[in-house]
Amino acid sequence: MRGSLLVDNIGELVTNSPGGDGPLGIRRDAALLVEDGQVAWVGPARDAPAADRRIDAEGGAVLPGFVDSHAHLVFAGDRAAEFAARMAGEPYTGGGIRTTVGATRAASDDELRATVRRLRGEAMRQGTTTIEIKSGYGLTVADEARSLRIAAEFTEDTTFLGAHVVPAEYADRPDDYVGMVCGPMLAAAAPYARWIDVFCERGAFDVDHARAILACGQAVGLGVRVHANQLGPGPGVQLGVELGAASVDHCTHLTDADVDALASTGTTWVSGFEPTTVATLLPGAEFSTRSPYPDARRLLDAGATVALATDCNPGSSYTSSMPFCIALAVREMRMTPAEAVWAATAGGAAALRRTDVGRLTRGARADLMILDAPSHLHLAYRPGVPLIRQVLHNGVPQCRQ
Ligand SMILES: [Zn+2]
Repeated sequence: MRGSLLVDNIGELVTNSPGGDGPLGIRRDAALLVEDGQVAWVGPARDAPAADRRIDAEGGAVLPGFVDSHAHLVFAGDRAAEFAARMAGEPYTGGGIRTTVGATRAASDDELRATVRRLRGEAMRQGTTTIEIKSGYGLTVADEARSLRIAAEFTEDTTFLGAHVVPAEYADRPDDYVGMVCGPMLAAAAPYARWIDVFCERGAFDVDHARAILACGQAVGLGVRVHANQLGPGPGVQLGVELGAASVDHCTHLTDADVDALASTGTTWVSGFEPTTVATLLPGAEFSTRSPYPDARRLLDAGATVALATDCNPGSSYTSSMPFCIALAVREMRMTPAEAVWAATAGGAAALRRTDVGRLTRGARADLMILDAPSHLHLAYRPGVPLIRQVLHNGVPQCRQ
């Protein structure tokens, strides 16, 4: 949208940058000017420049759009019956992934595209303006490539997850499957992918296979992410740190050495020169599998950088709601509301090594939300309530509820 746009009458502006109060960089009596899809100016409302148009925030808080750095949106079918069985007492093992693989392979491109569009819209209405999308339910050369091709229609942050599980047809020859992932599947997927990811877990890929796959991805220029330490202790976190991963995700079962390894990579990621490995916590998965939550407090107190993401997928966490994850993080993981909001915005940006999103300062992408509430605190204080009144993506209003 052309022309300038002023957002004013803001109850509280969360900038995630120095110059405001606390870790969220909160400014009061502030206004924000958008030009050419970017934040052009932030300052006291009384000094606001003239603009072509105006949005009155009506005293609501204004925050950076959420950065959901972990989502699996390219799939077909759902697994509601599996969820019901789990709530009735059956344990989660990750085995249901193969159910979704069958449905995904059988779906048309348009069916897959429609699902991504629906979930992307759902997320946007809940404040998510940047979302990472993984493949991982195709698990053939052609199906992984098309999953990423479709994902790339919706986001810049696409992730090749051919190593999600070993598909049934390779069940007794995992070495052959890993060879295919590193060979023809990677070659077909890489043109559409920014990242490579591996499910490093008992029952999925062991550390040697995971290292080999991630190294192949790095060799063709993909950044590294790891599904690590979700179902039990394991080598995934340390492998991620060793390879300079942007993020290790889940982090539910950590040893002291794992926490130290994450903390040693640094506490802030500002400009691309500090290659922090972020601990991305996915409390929707613990909620939906009735599992113990990760110990966010331990990570934060040790000095690790923490992000929150939805893990949106049809099996273990079928939510696209970052506000829900914030509420869980505060209630169940002992994060403060400010820490949780930071982790869902700036933390997600760090996990994707992006400096253009997750903050509201001059030059950042004009991705923001206006709450029907005066403060970010209400995201955790009023769980389950649709508080997001309006979302701007690239400076363009997306919805008004
Ligand atoms: Zn995942």
